[in-house]
Amino acid sequence: MHYISTRGGMPPKSFSDILLSGLSPDGGLAIPELYPRIDAAELERWRKLSYQSLAFEILTRFIDDIPETDLRGIIERTYTPELFGNADITPLKTLEPGLHILGLSNGPTLAFKDIAMQLLGNLFEYALEKTGDALNILGATSGDTGSSAEYAMRGKQRIRVFMLSPLGKMSRFQTAQMFSLQDQNIFNIAIRGVFDDCQDIVKAVSNDHQFKQKYHIGTVNSINWARIVAQIIYYFKGYFAATHSNHEQVAFAVPSGNFGNICAGHVARMMGLPIKQLILATNENDVLDEFFRTGIYRPRATMETHHTSSPSMDISKASNFERFVFDLTERRADKVAELWRGVDRGEAFDLSATPFWDNIRRFGFVSGSSHHAARIATIRKFYQQYNVIVDPHTADGLKVGLEHRETDIPLICLETAQPAKFSESIVEAIGCEPDCPAGYDNLENLSQRYDVKDVDISAIKAYIAERCE
Ligand SMILES: *Cc1c(COP(=O)(O)O)cnc(C)c1O
Repeated sequence: MHYISTRGGMPPKSFSDILLSGLSPDGGLAIPELYPRIDAAELERWRKLSYQSLAFEILTRFIDDIPETDLRGIIERTYTPELFGNADITPLKTLEPGLHILGLSNGPTLAFKDIAMQLLGNLFEYALEKTGDALNILGATSGDTGSSAEYAMRGKQRIRVFMLSPLGKMSRFQTAQMFSLQDQNIFNIAIRGVFDDCQDIVKAVSNDHQFKQKYHIGTVNSINWARIVAQIIYYFKGYFAATHSNHEQVAFAVPSGNFGNICAGHVARMMGLPIKQLILATNENDVLDEFFRTGIYRPRATMETHHTSSPSMDISKASNFERFVFDLTERRADKVAELWRGVDRGEAFDLSATPFWDNIRRFGFVSGSSHHAARIATIRKFYQQYNVIVDPHTADGLKVGLEHRETDIPLICLETAQPAKFSESIVEAIGCEPDCPAGYDNLENLSQRYDVKDVDISAIKAYIAERCE
């Protein structure tokens, strides 16, 4: 298995070569030269596998430079019932015949990002042990990604995490989740500013190539290919759980932001999983919905990004979308490079009049958007009708999923977070607090460990340098 760049400027590389970054030198994203195809006999065999065995089968199709026994060990350490609170890892809940919720948010930070990030933590540790290198992860977060990264990297050899967050701007639950970590390799830096200030600092530090190299600065952002691969597994698992035979087709509804989750669904479908529809749901930030309806991709300015009650989907451009457009344009890297030259200048592109536009339907994509009132109404409806409480992101997926539901095609909605993380919206919808999952009830009383800093790039550099000597 070799990886190439969506913009054509990278000689084929192995998985381990692209593991730590995912971004290729020409600015494009790493993607498999060919997707592995799973034939009917193999798919039949996979139906009976445990999550861990299925994970091994899928990961070996994408990773051929880690010895099998080592890879099995990494998977066994990652996907444990203790860490994911459930022997199935991603349990399927059936609300009525043909309507299911796939539970992806039972990991340590109660959001679906744990599924990929926990694997990434163990893959990073394994790769660094081989080379003897260190990695200092620098990131900015407004909530989910930062805590998911910290819980994946805590206590790991040769890895430190420096996570910037806007002081006092995250929810109490999210703040407590991150700041209560006492691990010596985790550094929470609360910035006197907003999220964009944090992101600007990360960009400035990363653009200082000398500093970046000297202190082995890296990231864990959502364009990392290993994160996509890890997410492919639960599309297969969810399919097998919701069907009786591999002759059935299903639809998946996916609450989307950076296009990472649904990109994995697209790859699963390209591998041969019988997915009829991939239903993409956005919130008020509808840049992706607009594309799938009109063919126009118009990244927004940061100023135009709405702060919504499904905050993990508040994006102005979708970082993983380039991988999908590579397939949509029938893998013409020169075309993708041309389109993204415009995107990088803040311009829009329009594929509606090109021969590529028909591929949208061929790939099974449909889309829709949600908004605050619809989100709250959906939470209320599912509580009244099925006695389940869903979080605001999952509610967006359900709302759009139901709008596109086809008779006789099972609909699987991906649950991306636990409602306890967003209790304000839950109270607004149903008038009471969601239950706090076991083990989390005391979180906000734990002692917190963090440093407060100004928006000052050189002060942050000094902070990192001091701790990396
Ligand atoms: C990150 C996130 C999303 C969006 O996922 P993408 O892979 O960025 O499309 C949706 N819901 C929750 C709760 C998230 O944390």
